[in-house]
Amino acid sequence: MYRKGHLGVSLLVFAPIGYGLVSIGEPELSLLTGAVMVWLAMLPDIDHRLPIISHRGPTHSLLFAALVGGVFAGAGFLLEGAFTVAGFSLAAFGFFLGFVSVFAHLIGDTLTPAGVNYLWPLSTKTFSVYLTRADNTIANQGLFALGVLVSAAVMGLAFGVF
Ligand SMILES: [Zn+2]
Repeated sequence: MYRKGHLGVSLLVFAPIGYGLVSIGEPELSLLTGAVMVWLAMLPDIDHRLPIISHRGPTHSLLFAALVGGVFAGAGFLLEGAFTVAGFSLAAFGFFLGFVSVFAHLIGDTLTPAGVNYLWPLSTKTFSVYLTRADNTIANQGLFALGVLVSAAVMGLAFGVF
């Protein structure tokens, strides 16, 4: 999956989360979540630029999602007490945010024939729902448009614009 397709999938995954956060009275956190998910939408593809790591290997796994979650949990832990968020700990929310940001990328790549080895390094089996080739322009543009449309509509509802 290319950048636009990934952004679209990330926005689709964000929509219900963002709605939920606004509905429990955390609009700023909702916007922050959307921003982080868009920012990290391509993070697993840093493996293109890392010499020893194979593409769609370690950075395309639940383990990597948990690792990024751990980094965000650490940041949340340091900020704990600085402000409160709807009764849940910032460390726990940080973990969720890091994890789901990477997980959204994995979902995008699952739609392509090469698939994703979610259980790396425990398994070599890749999981794929062959919906489109990664370089399919219509699929990438379509997912992007759908993600923008759905998240805008859902956030519009959440903020009471409609
Ligand atoms: Zn990827």
